[in-house]
Amino acid sequence: MADDCIFCKIAQGSIPANFVYQDDEIIAFRDINPHAPVHVLICTRQHITNVAEVTDQTAPLMGRLIKVAADIARQEGVADKGFRLLTNNGPEGGQVVMHLHFHLMGGRQMKGLG
Ligand code: AMP
Repeated sequence: MADDCIFCKIAQGSIPANFVYQDDEIIAFRDINPHAPVHVLICTRQHITNVAEVTDQTAPLMGRLIKVAADIARQEGVADKGFRLLTNNGPEGGQVVMHLHFHLMGGRQMKGLG
């Protein structure tokens, strides 16, 4: 747990979220400011800042996170039509919350990579 990290607080349960999935390593909840009809954030419980901080120890967790994303895409009904799964890294990458998370977005046509 990192002090003042909002996603650590969500993982701990001290800040509420609209969860769609939880296990002992990964949580997923609806984005508070959705950019698509389906917009879910998939996070590690462990405070890892972003992909740039993934180590040999945490690399297997990234594989699990992607499998959970695929399960959520099916659960949310967007797996067949298609969806976007992205993670922002650092300030120039557009990352605002400095706790590793993937955005799963679907339910509309995605365009461009800005
Ligand atoms: P990023 O720019 O990749 O760091 O994205 C952070 C995302 O977290 C944004 O899409 C925010 O809307 C979302 N967000 C911030 N606070 C919360 C919260 N309390 N519950 C759900 N989503 C949040």
